[in-house]
Amino acid sequence: MNQLQTMWSISRRKSLINCPRQYILRYSRSQRFSKNTQNIINFSLNDLVIRSSRKVIHERLEDFKNGLEWSEKMISLKIRLGVKEEISTERYSAIRNSSNLKNLIHSAKNRINSLWNTNIFRRIISGQIKQWSCMDRKKFLSNGHIDIFCSPDISYKIQKRWHLLRIDFQGELRNPSDELESLAMVNWAKKNNFLPYVNSQYIVNTLKFINGKWIHNRYLPTDDLLQQSKQLLEKDVNEMNKLVGKMGPLLNLALIPLSNNRYTCKKCSFKPSCPAKNGLRISKLEQNAIEYNNAKINFESNG
Ligand code: SF4
Repeated sequence: MNQLQTMWSISRRKSLINCPRQYILRYSRSQRFSKNTQNIINFSLNDLVIRSSRKVIHERLEDFKNGLEWSEKMISLKIRLGVKEEISTERYSAIRNSSNLKNLIHSAKNRINSLWNTNIFRRIISGQIKQWSCMDRKKFLSNGHIDIFCSPDISYKIQKRWHLLRIDFQGELRNPSDELESLAMVNWAKKNNFLPYVNSQYIVNTLKFINGKWIHNRYLPTDDLLQQSKQLLEKDVNEMNKLVGKMGPLLNLALIPLSNNRYTCKKCSFKPSCPAKNGLRISKLEQNAIEYNNAKINFESNG
């Protein structure tokens, strides 16, 4: 039986938009397991390094709070350990000395260092921002039928306002839903006992790594925008369910659309077993032919 989709996160949304097949393979069946268990999701090495980097940022900040400064070597080591923790011993043995892993760790370390040079981080580290804390990204908000994973990475207070900051290692240059996606953090924060309930007490911030630079965006929540943000999430989960339904009872992956962008395929961990491995354009044409054939069979059998 198809699994009802009840979980929303920005990563799930990105996957749904960038490649429906990748969404199905990565997330659609992960829900029957514990919500804290991510290991069954097949992440690419690039994704694993990014997940590990996020943890490293939190750990480095927490250690900084306790007066411990990290060396460059320590940052690289921690990223590596984070990757190792998430995969099987066999997979780690196969990649541990690969130049791919070394390069990914090196570039992640550089991104973390440049994050430390952003205005927000400099103000935290210099003590200008005194009240701040790292948030647990695994904490979700439930709206009754959707579990929403949209916690900020860091919350901090400047004068009377709370800032919610999300860090995105793979920012996208043009994303028309940026604001509404980001404002989901306010709906999350309002359910947190330690944060205020009033919209006007929040400012939402995102730091996105795009074309080698951290880009800072700020958004102010209003009742109307927060409502639109909720609707966006509902619509996404509805689309996720429609997509899962499209596979039918036989879970036919051949009916699920492929990516529209060959750059998405480049970093995709499912590529070796995907029809797109032989070229995205030709696989899409083949898929259209299958869809046409199925529609014809349905038409003839109902006629
Ligand atoms: S290889 Fe490309 S088409 Fe296939 S699942 Fe990955 S992103 Fe989608």
